[in-house]
Amino acid sequence: MGQINVLVWNEFRHERVHEAVARIYPRGIHETIATHLRQQPDIRVSTATLDEPEHGLSQQVLAATDVLIWWGHMAHHEVSDAVVDRVHQRVLDGMGLICLHSAHYSKIFRRLMGTTCSLKWREIGEKERIWVIEPGHPIATGLPEYFEIPHTEMYGERFDIPAPDELVLLSWFAGGEVFRSGCCFYRGRGKVFYFRPGHETLPIYHQAEVLQVITNAVRWAAPVAGPTPTFGNVQPLEPIG
Ligand code: ZN
Repeated sequence: MGQINVLVWNEFRHERVHEAVARIYPRGIHETIATHLRQQPDIRVSTATLDEPEHGLSQQVLAATDVLIWWGHMAHHEVSDAVVDRVHQRVLDGMGLICLHSAHYSKIFRRLMGTTCSLKWREIGEKERIWVIEPGHPIATGLPEYFEIPHTEMYGERFDIPAPDELVLLSWFAGGEVFRSGCCFYRGRGKVFYFRPGHETLPIYHQAEVLQVITNAVRWAAPVAGPTPTFGNVQPLEPIG
């Protein structure tokens, strides 16, 4: 089997303007995630950031990408609509997309969901317990029945998304809320995974279980060599009558 070509995309702003974020992710959140993925023999990794020409997401780059990982927060509005159109088309054509944490409000995720993608939030560093509720799903590979993030930003329901095609992870927070934290969607030939953890001022992308979920999601979201569907008016395959 060939390698999966993964592109880790980050708006890469917090790390350059907020010292507290740079201390945790000195080379950027994208490099922390990419460093882990590079240790996987079946994954080939590159990175791109918002301030590169075309946000590092040219037609050629996207054509060579099997799975795109997206982290954005403070600059969603700076992502050009032309690039969003391009990413959207690639997903419909079969590219996998993994949207992390605050990417719930990214243009591309909202486009793919067709809803506001709004949620409740609170930033007091409370505990989160993430339950694996679909243990037979590929994204659950190697995970315990639940794992905990000791200090996190809370995201609470209602999360205004369409019902996921598969729901793998469910979060509980010390303050009482719950949240659908690992959501799978099929769009066209492509697969989309939303994964909640990952606030920029907390070392969440250094945690083993979180990196395991991202790695599993890459393998799940990778395109498969399925048939190319055809559409429109057709003749019957068998004689009828
Ligand atoms: Zn956050």
